Amino acid sequence: MGCRARVAKRELLRVTAGSDADGRPAVVPDPTATSPGRGAHLHPTSECYELAVRRKAFPRALRFTAGAGLSAALLGEYLGQRDHQA
Ligand SMILES: [Zn+2]
Repeated sequence: MGCRARVAKRELLRVTAGSDADGRPAVVPDPTATSPGRGAHLHPTSECYELAVRRKAFPRALRFTAGAGLSAALLGEYLGQRDHQA
């Protein structure tokens, strides 16, 4: 998903549909790729993340159909922290 550049799967970050600290539906990073359920993969970069948000790619890739909406803010924060560590 995201920019669709082809890379090895281990370079990608797995994300799943979970919930945030307030229990709302959210895209959750799964760096260890151990969460059950349907996952999607994207480059762990802000560019790829923003592209996926703009394309509304997360709900589609995660087959999330509930009307309440799927927040990607949690993943955005995660990637933001990652960027600062790099
Ligand atoms: Zn990408």
